[in-house]
Amino acid sequence: MNRLENKIAFITGGGRGMGAAISKRLGEEGATVVFTYSKSKKKAEEVAAKINEKGGHARAVEADSRDPKALSNAIQKTITELGRIDILINNAGIYVGKEFESHTLEDYEEIMAINVRAVYVAALAAVPKMPRNGRIITIGSNMAENALGPQTTLYTMSKAALAGFTRGLARDLGAKGITVNLVQPGPINTDMNPSDTELADFLRSRMALSEYGTGEDIAGLVAYLASEEGKYITGTAITIDGGLNA
Ligand code: NDP
Repeated sequence: MNRLENKIAFITGGGRGMGAAISKRLGEEGATVVFTYSKSKKKAEEVAAKINEKGGHARAVEADSRDPKALSNAIQKTITELGRIDILINNAGIYVGKEFESHTLEDYEEIMAINVRAVYVAALAAVPKMPRNGRIITIGSNMAENALGPQTTLYTMSKAALAGFTRGLARDLGAKGITVNLVQPGPINTDMNPSDTELADFLRSRMALSEYGTGEDIAGLVAYLASEEGKYITGTAITIDGGLNA
């Protein structure tokens, strides 16, 4: 499918995990893909090379989502060089899981900077030059609606904030023909949530489908939302979790 021909996509954290699957899928569907990394330069460059080898157009750029200026500059540079961003994917995220009594203010600042503030910063930078039919898609978590267990307070708080962002921004940008949506994955086999742990066994026991998803499962939904077929979907959260929250 070449549903994203002539589209420019910008993805945060696109060099590994779910972000890499999204970068590859959008690249395969014809989009020019620019994606950020912070620590994983080598992996990010390999993902870009793979997309380019297959005839796509991809580049990896360094931008730490904790640094609003770095992220904003990466987006401005993309717009200057490529003319615009049609599809913004806010994927970069971290998990902080520990007993509430051992939380620190630094934990809060770190997770909110990456999981929430960077999403806002990226939209602020991309929207002024985003054309009609633009897309903003953020990766949240099914845990925004079901905390599932202890030691999840910071993460669920950060991911729950994205639903408000999505609804508000969809209203702000509807008149410009830009859609804004939240994708809420459940357990996906990545470095963040490997499928071969005790926690994974517990999660599987709670799922309707009893198996982990893949980055490609999420990338398929993201590609659909980014395509023309997704044009009437806005301001909503779509949970894709193998029935964990059912
Ligand atoms: P990984 O830990 O496997 O990958 C995280 C990605 O985010 C990497 O590309 C990483 O790049 C990037 N990233 C992290 N911190 C920063 C930063 N400061 N600046 C720029 N990029 C950063 O996680 P997943 O692929 O599993 O997660 C992707 C998204 O999906 C996250 O938002 C996560 O919360 C969400 N999610 C994951 C689930 C799962 O089960 N895996 C379930 C529900 C939601 P780098 O290495 O270069 O820092």
